[in-house]
Amino acid sequence: MSWSIVEIVDPARAKAFEGLFTLGSGPLHVRGSVEDHPAASPQNVDYQRRATNVTSERFTSAPRWGAYVPGLFAPHPTLGPQMVNLPFFLGLDLEHASGERLHSGSPRVRSHRRELRLDLATLARVVEFHGPSGERLSASFERFVSAEHPHLCVQRLTLTSDRATSLRLRSTIDADVRTNGYDHAQRVRLEAPGDGTILCTLRTDAGDEVRIESATTGTWEEVRATREPRRAHLLGRVMLRPGIEAVIEKRTLVTTDRDLAQPAATMAALRTRTFESLLDAHAAIWRDRWSRAGVEIEGDDESRLSARASVFHLLRAHVDDDRVAIDAKGYAGEAYWGRFFWDTEVFLLPFHLYTEPSRARSLVDFRVRTLDAAVENARRYGYRGAKYPWEADTLGRECCPNWPYADHEVHVSADVAYAFAHFAAAADPAYLLGLAARVVVETARFWMDRMETREGDAHASILGVMGPDEYAPITHNNAYTNWMAAFNLRLASQVGAAGGATSVESAEFGWAAARLGLVRAADGVLILQCEGFDRLADPRFEELWKDRSLTFGANVSQERLFRSRCLKQADVLMMMHLFPDSFTDEEVRRAWDYYLPLTTHDSSLSPAVHSILASRLGLSRDAWAFWQRGSRIDLEGSGASEGVHIAAAGGVWQMAVFGFAGLRSALVEDDPTLNPRLPEAWTALTFPLAWRGARLRVRIEMGRASVTNEGDRATGISVWGAKTFVGPAETAEFSPVPP
Ligand code: BGC
Repeated sequence: MSWSIVEIVDPARAKAFEGLFTLGSGPLHVRGSVEDHPAASPQNVDYQRRATNVTSERFTSAPRWGAYVPGLFAPHPTLGPQMVNLPFFLGLDLEHASGERLHSGSPRVRSHRRELRLDLATLARVVEFHGPSGERLSASFERFVSAEHPHLCVQRLTLTSDRATSLRLRSTIDADVRTNGYDHAQRVRLEAPGDGTILCTLRTDAGDEVRIESATTGTWEEVRATREPRRAHLLGRVMLRPGIEAVIEKRTLVTTDRDLAQPAATMAALRTRTFESLLDAHAAIWRDRWSRAGVEIEGDDESRLSARASVFHLLRAHVDDDRVAIDAKGYAGEAYWGRFFWDTEVFLLPFHLYTEPSRARSLVDFRVRTLDAAVENARRYGYRGAKYPWEADTLGRECCPNWPYADHEVHVSADVAYAFAHFAAAADPAYLLGLAARVVVETARFWMDRMETREGDAHASILGVMGPDEYAPITHNNAYTNWMAAFNLRLASQVGAAGGATSVESAEFGWAAARLGLVRAADGVLILQCEGFDRLADPRFEELWKDRSLTFGANVSQERLFRSRCLKQADVLMMMHLFPDSFTDEEVRRAWDYYLPLTTHDSSLSPAVHSILASRLGLSRDAWAFWQRGSRIDLEGSGASEGVHIAAAGGVWQMAVFGFAGLRSALVEDDPTLNPRLPEAWTALTFPLAWRGARLRVRIEMGRASVTNEGDRATGISVWGAKTFVGPAETAEFSPVPP
């Protein structure tokens, strides 16, 4: 069953599965919480979450409900705008005729198993109880967030007993929930008009209207409604007889005033559809998605499952609405407040770009749409041009409450320009001639103001920045930032006219780019992460990293992180990954040898970059070790408790495609060019590839590769250095050149 992730429910780990088992449709995402109310973990507790560094934060292991509509933000008094957690609408609670609750934490549970079907995007849960009167009771729950009707969540509960008995069932919408300990709901109204529905409406403190309507139907009797100020229930009796299933269905429509279109179906219309017909339509859409985007690994079941789990969440978390990007927790938790980081441009865009380019467009368009906010952000700092926020909300405002990041982690503006160039190269060359050119010019104007030439220096400098390595806060001439800014400036010199720059200004962008350089060590080969990096303190990992189950950052003080030669994540290597042709193998190898022992990988964004570069360097053992580390982040331990590491999921795709298949980016090649080197454990790797209008399917086996053209456009293709053309419906075969 390698399409399934199975949980034999262990309450100690339940929270991780809530994140991992999140289902979603784009406009609606629901964490994989169990349907019954976790009495021991009330969801209406107010608490103060501080603006700390999430990587070193410790979170409670108590279950946390979560239902999210991307883009629905509201202001937290100290943390800034955050994505709102909506009322919990999955509630289905059971009570035995004797009055005893039958819930997932009850000692009466005989077995309890959950299964996420990645291919079907469904979640099933089967719990068996020793009934208080000696019965064997079984409750089987199924649910999906419909791909056909993306505002609809469908649930089915099937109950059986080996003896005649009766249960009381309570179907609930619970609006007494918090987001990071804060209550954003106002004017909550709950109605149960007596027709088997519950209606919850509220207004968030940002003024958004939310409407949640549930209909519960099936073999229950004496149904009546009860209400509390923040909850509404339908209560009914289910009579069970041996050998006869009692089936209850619950359907919930979640709509808000942010919806792009009114849902295609009303609850009244949906009621006429059977569960099977809704499921069939949903599954058909997912089948199509998998055929366009699935990465298939043969030979190693673990790798196969982690690749599928990553692609599942990548597909789920993409909204395809240019009013949002993809939040750092993939709409599966609240740790990063639902905000948008550089993760989208650098870690997530490539998956969409090379599988479904038309769906990648909304991700780049989001930054076009929020240009004015970036211009305003630059102005606040006294700069011309556009400074994109480190943490953006849906309006593109800077939301990051921590100044070292908000003020100094400026590379994000150049990451945006890089993503635009990537989109243009892989999907649509005209993109850079439209509104996107203004973004490139405005970000270039920001760099022109942000860089300076110190007395006595022949080159220009960007001072006081934080690069991708967030353990080096205010550094000068960070390699990644300088190289990215130079790229941004060069791009602006090329597309300046389309973006409103004069020819003189465009030429100035080009000159400025040429004046930004990198700091090198005395050997002339090693690129230093920033000025003076080699003179920082020894991080003393052996002595200070006592608890290896926690990040290094959680073991030592921030002050020590900031003065030591320890990396949170790839920085110089990150740059080398994004610009594969700008650095020789010798330079990459030197950087690898120098930085690897200093890198903590405290950020989940780090392992993938290392695996890809290890593949390039022919370090197959390291490539494999980093694959294993990077691809299982959400599948092991408490990984997905606070939401999935969606950038790492993008990294999984990149490790497979850029690393092991050796695909070179469209920024450096005109035709798809691959240099595959599969891990020993894999017998085959197959994936679809979209490239400049062509649709290909690549299959790599040990010692051979084939590329089938599944589109209607002929394309050149190069594998292991052999180049050929593939016309529509043709397949080209390749074998590696013997060393
Ligand atoms: C990483 C950043 C990343 C952010 C959100 C941080 O821990 O250091 O690079 O953008 O998480 O995923």
